Amino acid sequence: MPELPEVESVRRGLVRRRLRGVAVARVRSSGKPLRMARPQPLPALRRATHGQRITDVRRIGKYLLLDLDGRWSVLVHLGMSGNLITAKRAEPWAPHTHVVFELADGRDVRFVDPRRFGMVDVVERGRERAHPALAVLGPDPIAEGLPPEHLHAASTSRSTPVKQFILDQGVLAGVGNIYASEALWLARIAPTRPARRLGAAGAEALSVAIQDVLEFAIENGGTTLRDFVGADGVPGDNGEYLLVYGRAGTPCPRCGTAIKKAMQAGRATYWCPTCQPR
Ligand SMILES: [Zn+2]
Repeated sequence: MPELPEVESVRRGLVRRRLRGVAVARVRSSGKPLRMARPQPLPALRRATHGQRITDVRRIGKYLLLDLDGRWSVLVHLGMSGNLITAKRAEPWAPHTHVVFELADGRDVRFVDPRRFGMVDVVERGRERAHPALAVLGPDPIAEGLPPEHLHAASTSRSTPVKQFILDQGVLAGVGNIYASEALWLARIAPTRPARRLGAAGAEALSVAIQDVLEFAIENGGTTLRDFVGADGVPGDNGEYLLVYGRAGTPCPRCGTAIKKAMQAGRATYWCPTCQPR
């Protein structure tokens, strides 16, 4: 599943493709419903995009926003396996292409999603947070910043383990399972520590670590897991830079202790028992 850095890689790939200023001429669809979209809102998409120029590509959490020069933005969630790619009109649609924005310059922006857990919708620009999918999200640690006070205030009443706490998209948007392990290792915090015992210093360390881990992953184009590729079709190479995730039994890069793995709320967690004591 793409996490924040992978979605940011897709965003940057689209920006590099020089979509800004190019108008949407037509929207086409496979006709197959996408899992997360309430009915797939094709008429609304057509009305919102017809003849409108793309002015920016933004991201909030794991959601991409294609801003248009009218009143609307196109909201895209990549789901489990989705991608937003550009292609020349003449190129045949790849399998599982579900929504295609035909641009006035002869290119397409194509939403490809084999498992159809993704979503394409329309939101009013400037009122994105009123959309039900975005209203429930905490701040985006990269696009909006993550003040330690926010993390601390949110943590004081929570007895849930800190790893689940930072995975809660209502606390902060876009941190998934891989980067949660990485950030906790960097901040030297045991993943099982109750969130309410984070304290101001723990919240500060964790806030910095989350932003560092995500920034580093973005610089490396995201993590390649299974079939993730960025918008330009190039797999990210952050996988080889992961410090603890997927590295059970290998030496901790800081102290040499063997990295441990355990299941936590059904998800794999990796940590160093020496650097992150309980
Ligand atoms: Zn260690």
